[in-house]
Amino acid sequence: MNEEAAALLRLQEIDLSLMRAEAQLKAMPQASKLVTVAQAKKKLASELKRIVGMRKDIEIDIDDLQQQHARYEQDRADAKASIEESGKSYKEVQALDTRLSNIAKQLEKVEFKLGPLLDKLDQARGAEAKLNAIGAKLDEEEGSLRDSFAADTTQIRAEIKSLQEERADTLEDITEGVLADYSAASKRFSGLAVERMKGNVPSTCRVKLQEDAYRVLVRGPEITTCPYCHRMLVVEEL
Ligand SMILES: [Zn+2]
Repeated sequence: MNEEAAALLRLQEIDLSLMRAEAQLKAMPQASKLVTVAQAKKKLASELKRIVGMRKDIEIDIDDLQQQHARYEQDRADAKASIEESGKSYKEVQALDTRLSNIAKQLEKVEFKLGPLLDKLDQARGAEAKLNAIGAKLDEEEGSLRDSFAADTTQIRAEIKSLQEERADTLEDITEGVLADYSAASKRFSGLAVERMKGNVPSTCRVKLQEDAYRVLVRGPEITTCPYCHRMLVVEEL
């Protein structure tokens, strides 16, 4: 068998081993718990975004009202100062009094709106803090799941690493075209991309080849295509 055909068969073995190892990792109890934690974190993040948006809106409203309040207070101080100035006529003083009582009404209105908003702000901040606390707990849980996952999978991860290294070496003996065919077939046949001729029977589909077809294949290249299942087929010259 030539080097490339041997490498191709080894590549398939490596990839099947990698698939089994990855499946084992996925089957670890920590893996599904990590998925659950990730989903919870995502849900929490969107809830937090909503609450933070709400809190910011409330803060903007409060800021507006506080600015209005400050302006009315300034108006009141100005009006009071004017009343105390000497030389004001009775009419002028009366107008300033009316102005002062209007300002007092406006201030009352602003304060009336401000009260509930401050309560709302407290509530939003409380909700935000609660969500952040839940987030911290989820981060902690995620961390300990990751640690336990790492501890329980040391061996299998080492195996994956060594398979990946061997895979990289193996690829050096395979041409680009053959690798592209392999990748496509591997997807199509769930990893069982290459079969081997055993006698006149391909090893995976096991459809016995007619004598004529067999002769044609044996005379052709070592890496070819199975006429039945269309997997890649390694044919060794006899
Ligand atoms: Zn076949």
